[in-house]
Amino acid sequence: ELSVENLHLDYGDNPVLKGVSMQLQRGEVVSLLGPSGSGKTTLLRAVAGLEAAKKGRITINDRVLFDSETRSEVPAELRDLGIVFQSYALWPHKTVAENIAYPLKLRKVKAAEQRTRVQDILNQLGLGKLGQRYPHELSGGQQQRVAIGRALVYNPPVLLLDEPLSNLDAKLREEARAFLRELIMRLGLSAIMVTHDQNEAMAISDRILLLNNGKIEQQGTPQEMYGSPTTLFCAEFMGSNN
Ligand code: ATP
Repeated sequence: ELSVENLHLDYGDNPVLKGVSMQLQRGEVVSLLGPSGSGKTTLLRAVAGLEAAKKGRITINDRVLFDSETRSEVPAELRDLGIVFQSYALWPHKTVAENIAYPLKLRKVKAAEQRTRVQDILNQLGLGKLGQRYPHELSGGQQQRVAIGRALVYNPPVLLLDEPLSNLDAKLREEARAFLRELIMRLGLSAIMVTHDQNEAMAISDRILLLNNGKIEQQGTPQEMYGSPTTLFCAEFMGSNN
């Protein structure tokens, strides 16, 4: 349902994405995997509309989000994609419920409907009683769920996750990974997840895109990437990164 075609993006004189194409089918989880600086976060941010691409095309369900040929560009807040940042980016002075409700408030949804929707999300995320707490009163794993809740509250078709598990310690990470996978399936979401950890990508995704220096080195199912790498870079990255 999401399609990226031949995307190019420079930071100043530095080309960071050099013609990236990818597809995300409905219900699919795709990981963007690759070494530091390969362009994973930049690709996610370009899809979200938070970075301006130079060339290429991005569509979701035939709606054009970006097209350099026709010079069309939908601003980030109208792209209707749910984004979870690595740092969670919660507002410290707002309660959990207010944090989750924020995208609804932006869209001028009625207060009563906001409350119902937020409570529903809190229940879905196993945070039922924590709505009136502040982010600093929650554990890292709970804060992450709040960030996911805020991303999901207006039912976006696609969830964009930037290293969602990297701030958690090893034990919590396993739990959070299983939770995330289960949630995505339960809600029938599609997701793009940035990670530099090949084990994480193998465990959570239907498909992996391996980025190398602003280009897609190889893509495939976890089994294909691990079992049949077509380049030395892919073989080394999938085999020895940890
Ligand atoms: P990491 O795993 O370290 O986050 P990444 O694969 O996500 O790496 P990006 O963050 O997309 O990589 O960065 C790709 C390149 O773009 C890097 O060389 C980085 O230094 C550069 N870059 C990223 N953000 C900016 C920016 N705002 N201004 C200028 N250069 C940037």
